[in-house]
Amino acid sequence: MKVTKFGGSSLASTKQFKKVLEIVRSDEARKFIVVSAPGKRSAKDVKVTDSLIAYYNAYRKGEDYEYFQTSIIKRYEDMASELGLNTPVMFEIAQNIKALATLPIEGNQYLYDTFLASGENNNAKLIAAYFQAEGLAARYLHPKDAGIIVTDEPGNARILPESYEKINYLNDVDGVIVIPGFFGVTSAGEVCTFSRGGSDITGSIIAAGVRANLYENFTDVDGIFAAHPGIVDNPHTIGELTYREMRELAYAGFSVLHDEALIPAYRAKVPVVIKNTNNPTHPGTRINLKHTEKAGPVIGIASDDGFASINITKYLMNREVGFGRKLLSELERLGIRFEHMPSGIDDLSVIVREHELSPEIERTLLERLTEILDPDEIDIEHGLSIIMIVGEGMKRHIGVTAVGTTALSKKGINLEIINQGSSEVSVMFGIKKENEHDAVEALYEAYYR
Ligand code: ASP
Repeated sequence: MKVTKFGGSSLASTKQFKKVLEIVRSDEARKFIVVSAPGKRSAKDVKVTDSLIAYYNAYRKGEDYEYFQTSIIKRYEDMASELGLNTPVMFEIAQNIKALATLPIEGNQYLYDTFLASGENNNAKLIAAYFQAEGLAARYLHPKDAGIIVTDEPGNARILPESYEKINYLNDVDGVIVIPGFFGVTSAGEVCTFSRGGSDITGSIIAAGVRANLYENFTDVDGIFAAHPGIVDNPHTIGELTYREMRELAYAGFSVLHDEALIPAYRAKVPVVIKNTNNPTHPGTRINLKHTEKAGPVIGIASDDGFASINITKYLMNREVGFGRKLLSELERLGIRFEHMPSGIDDLSVIVREHELSPEIERTLLERLTEILDPDEIDIEHGLSIIMIVGEGMKRHIGVTAVGTTALSKKGINLEIINQGSSEVSVMFGIKKENEHDAVEALYEAYYR
C-alpha cells in the first residue's frame, strides 16, 4: 500500500487533475492521496497559497479584499466547471473561502494558518469530488479526522508522536482517501500549518502512520538531479540514494523535498520515491535506508552560497585547554548557529550562514573573541559558497577527493576550505562565490562525463 502526494504544480489545472486521476487509477495500492493547494499554471501565475496570503493581509489590515477572495474562488470554480463537475462541494468551497473574512482578528493567533490551510483543504474536497465523479470510491478526510495532531506552533507546527497510532487506524477505512497536506490541528482543535512547502511533511507522516510500503512524492521533475540543472547542462537523475545522502544534498541547495519531510518516513523505514506527474512512467528517484543497487562513490554534487568563515589563528592553540569551548560558548551566547568547523594545529575556522551575522553581531563577536581568546589573528571572510560531494560509497573508494581537487585546480579555482566528516558521506569544499558555477561544472565533468 502506498501513500501518494501531489504537489501544487501537479494540481494547478484541469489538465493536471486528469493526469493525477490516471496515476491514482493505474495502481490499486495508491490508497492514501495527499494534496497541495493549486500551484502555478505558468511561470507568471500565482500559487493559491500566495493569493491566500494576500487575501489575509488585506482582511487583517481592513483593506479591500474582494479581488483576492473572488479570484481564489474562481480558480476552484474554473477547475470544477472545466471538469464538468456539478457538485455541492463547489458551493461549500466558495462558502468556506468567503467565511475566512468573518473570522476574529484580534487575539486569533491561528488566523493566518486557517487562511493558508484552506488552500489545500478546499483542493482536497474538489479532488475527492472529481475522483468520485470519475467512478473512484474516494473520500475527503480532514487532517483532524485523519489523526494529524500537531504542536501549538502556528506556521511551524510539528507532529505529536501520539498521532501515529491514530493515523494507523486509517488502514481500516475502505476506498481512496484524499487528505489535504500542509496542516494539522492542535490538541485543542486549532488549525496549525507546517512551514511553507509542508504538504511533503503530511505525506511522510501518513506514510509512517499507516506503515506504507512506499511514500510517492509526485512533482514536476523526473527525480533528483545529480547536480543543479541551472548550473550543469542536462544532469542525469539519480536512480537511488540513501536518506543520509538526501539529507546532505538537501542541506546544500537541493530543494525537491521539504527538509523535514524525510524524518517520519525514515524513522518508520518507509522508502520514498520522487516522481514526475508529467512523466509517470519514468522510475524517478528512490530514497532508501541503504543502496539496493550498485552505486558509484559520488551520488550527487550540491552547492549553496551565502556562507562566511570566522578564522582564528593562535600559536600553540592545540595546547590550550578549553579554547574551542570558549569560542563556541560565545557563539551560543550571541545565538549564532554554526555549520562546519575545520581546524589545523594553530588555527580554527567556524563556517556560518551569512544571515546569522548582522554587522552589529559581527562587531560584537569579533570584540568578544579577541578579548576571550587573545588570538594572534582573527577575521571574518564573507562571500563563500560551499560544495558538497555526496556519496556513502566514498568510504570504500580511494582518490574521490583527489579527482575533485584536481578538477578544481585545472580550472584555477582556489580551495578556501576542505572538510570531511568522520562518516565520510560527503566532502565539503569552500570556495569564493564567484567560482561556484565553474566549480560545480568542473566537478560534474570530472565525476560523471
Ligand atoms: N501550499 C503550501 C505552500 O505553498 C504547502 C505545499 O504546497 O506544500 O507552501
